[in-house]
Amino acid sequence: MTNPAFSHSVDLSPPASHFRAWFGCAAGCGGGELPLNQVIYYCPACGGLLEVQHDLAALRSRSAEEWKLLFDDRHRRTMYPYGSGVWGKKEMVCPAVADHNVVSMYEGGTNLFWAERLGKQIGLEDLWVKQCGNSHTGSFKDLGMTVLVSMVKQMIAEVTRIPAVACASTGDTSAALAAYCAAAGIPAIVILPRNRVSTAQLIQPMANGALTLSLDTDFDGCMRVVRELCTRENIYLANSMNSLRLEGQKTISIEIVQQFDWEVPDVVIVPGGNLGNISAIGRGFLLMRDLGMIDRLPRLVCAQAERANPLYRSFLTGFSSYQPIQAQETLASAIQIGDPVSIDRAIKVLKAFDSVVEQATEEELADAVALADRTGLFNCPHTGVALAVLFKLLERGQIKSPERVVVISTAHGLKFTDFKRRYHEGKLPDMAARYANQPVELPADYDKARDAIFRVLEK
Ligand SMILES: *Cc1c(COP(=O)(O)O)cnc(C)c1O
Ligand SMILES: [Zn+2]
Repeated sequence: MTNPAFSHSVDLSPPASHFRAWFGCAAGCGGGELPLNQVIYYCPACGGLLEVQHDLAALRSRSAEEWKLLFDDRHRRTMYPYGSGVWGKKEMVCPAVADHNVVSMYEGGTNLFWAERLGKQIGLEDLWVKQCGNSHTGSFKDLGMTVLVSMVKQMIAEVTRIPAVACASTGDTSAALAAYCAAAGIPAIVILPRNRVSTAQLIQPMANGALTLSLDTDFDGCMRVVRELCTRENIYLANSMNSLRLEGQKTISIEIVQQFDWEVPDVVIVPGGNLGNISAIGRGFLLMRDLGMIDRLPRLVCAQAERANPLYRSFLTGFSSYQPIQAQETLASAIQIGDPVSIDRAIKVLKAFDSVVEQATEEELADAVALADRTGLFNCPHTGVALAVLFKLLERGQIKSPERVVVISTAHGLKFTDFKRRYHEGKLPDMAARYANQPVELPADYDKARDAIFRVLEK
């Protein structure tokens, strides 16, 4: 379609009735279609997880070219809520939410950074980092939370009684839930594992006025409590077994392809903990392929911390077996999960792609962060896991130039300054911190400052 007037001929908010989505059984047991405004997380027929399913026939009523033009037309524009990277794709995300119920903070539309200098250093010219952490609450969790909280706002408007929304979190989900609920005036409850989230991550829900419970356990322990709370007390569950969130996270893959002028990259690397995101990103690509918007799939790589690696262990058996584990403490605290909720979703998606699961040690992830930071990035430890896995796959020849590789950066490094400080001070245990850069402490004296500078410059 080349008509320059095209963008004005597309109705930006088509009737909600035309595009339809519902909860269906993720395992495909035939449990039926349940409305998205029902408070339900598990298939009533088989007890498995639900997924949001879309009326593909309705979506096909527009051609692939029409969708691309429409999405490009809305991208980063001002017509609320369509300038959002998530709501600009509303028909493929959550068509039933009325625009006036959408709680958006202009999420998505994050920079796809050409990591030219880092790429040169590692021999990969076409390396890109999708900066999903450059977002309202500093992580990619905003993408899914806007969908969930918008649906809650709509349900409350329809007079469903929902006294509060709750989540267990490794730090970023709770920050996103707290902010979106605060913006909408909905009470939020966040349940965090004590001493296992960063200072910034603890302060975010406090500042946004969420009821913040700090439990003496790990994430998996918090998850057990919130699950019971939400089954017994009519509080709405915001964890990712609630598949509404995955619909927002899915827009990451659509947006990446859009940012490459609708070309598919060769490899996408995603750090994985609870595994909702690797599933969502995979599903985004599959949906685009089903709608004819792309004609091939990228290779998918899921990157895990060695100390919280149940998916990696399953991958080693060709996904023929899976065992939850007790996750050990890792610097990549947001993915310190031994019993991931979305394990079945992730395995199903990874089997549909040419895919790899790889792991990174504490030293590998910390060095990867520091090396990449020296080229102008400012990474979180989870992005470090993804980068360390990239370095490994390059070394083994499983990824090669001139392939186009996208690393998903999941959170902003400023949330993890404790980790960076300890690295640069050489205080992280069991590692050489080979890229550490320490401040030089001096009296306020010109000659001493000059000497210190020229000692380095003349090296
Ligand atoms: C949530 C999160 C992840 C992992 O996403 P999952 O869906 O749990 O696998 C990775 N990095 C950061 C920063 C996160 O907050
Ligand atoms: Zn079922």
